[in-house]
Amino acid sequence: MKCVYCVEDKPLSSFTKVEHVMPQSFGLFRNNFTLKNIVCDDCNQYFGDSLEIVMARDTFEGTSRFEFELKSPKDFKFLGKRSRMIIKIAEGECKGAYAYREYSKEQDKIVIKPVPQIGFLKNEPAKYEYYLLDQIPSKSYLEKNGFDMKNPKAIRAVGIDVDTARQILSEKGIKFEYQGEAGPSENPKEDWLCKIECLIDSTIFRTVAKIAFNYLVYWEGRDFLLHHSFDTLRSFIRYGKQADYPLVRVDDNPILADEPVEGRRRLGHIVTVNWAADKKSIVSQISLFNWASYRISLARPFSGEQRNIRRGHFFSVNSRQILDLEARPISP
Ligand SMILES: [Zn+2]
Repeated sequence: MKCVYCVEDKPLSSFTKVEHVMPQSFGLFRNNFTLKNIVCDDCNQYFGDSLEIVMARDTFEGTSRFEFELKSPKDFKFLGKRSRMIIKIAEGECKGAYAYREYSKEQDKIVIKPVPQIGFLKNEPAKYEYYLLDQIPSKSYLEKNGFDMKNPKAIRAVGIDVDTARQILSEKGIKFEYQGEAGPSENPKEDWLCKIECLIDSTIFRTVAKIAFNYLVYWEGRDFLLHHSFDTLRSFIRYGKQADYPLVRVDDNPILADEPVEGRRRLGHIVTVNWAADKKSIVSQISLFNWASYRISLARPFSGEQRNIRRGHFFSVNSRQILDLEARPISP
């Protein structure tokens, strides 16, 4: 039996695990789409350990699992500096300061806290720019770049005690005079508006591409997907091998035509597959929590058997049902 990812011939005993079209970390669904005897245990294990874990813990979609109660806040894990997500406070006195999310036992929810950092006041327009402790620029850089180094209030320590701040700054020859409490208050009732910057790298693209690939295998079967037209995407998913054209692209537009670019959309994951406009290539669209859409080039071009592959499904997070996006007419 050939695994659709490594394409190695393996005995049945190497196919003991069930591969889920939609990673289990993004919900379990009724009559779930699963692949049996199609993805070998080695590939299944590799995907779980190296790709899906990143999608689950270190993406905007992954953290949405807590917001939409697919996961309990207790299970939230902060990845620290390794994280692909940068959170900054977007309003108020500490606008621009770095923050992170953490599970709070007292409040039994995920809260935002300031990261240890130093803010320097820049003139014209007057605003603080924040630097993480290992990224503090030199005194001469600050002087040359229009930072106020004379006013004692021009430096503020956030998420860090005064003595540590003073020591770190004095090592750089910068004098720090403490001017009372600076930084966002720790008042748990106060919510901060934050801006999140996410790095969407190839690990995330590969995980998304795997959902599309799995989905097409689920509907069209192993033999169809073993065709060499899928080799480019296959080696990208399994081995991270890049192609000379973009295999995955992100776009903000909703997949469902009746939904707004900004504002509420139906809550769930969407997977579609279709022929591209050239009628030769096969493309897929994926959206987790109906947020960003990813466009995946499954085969470009496809030179095998032509068939009607067009379909789409909505994985409803609330009802845990998988709905056909385009109910087909039943032939008499
Ligand atoms: Zn394999």
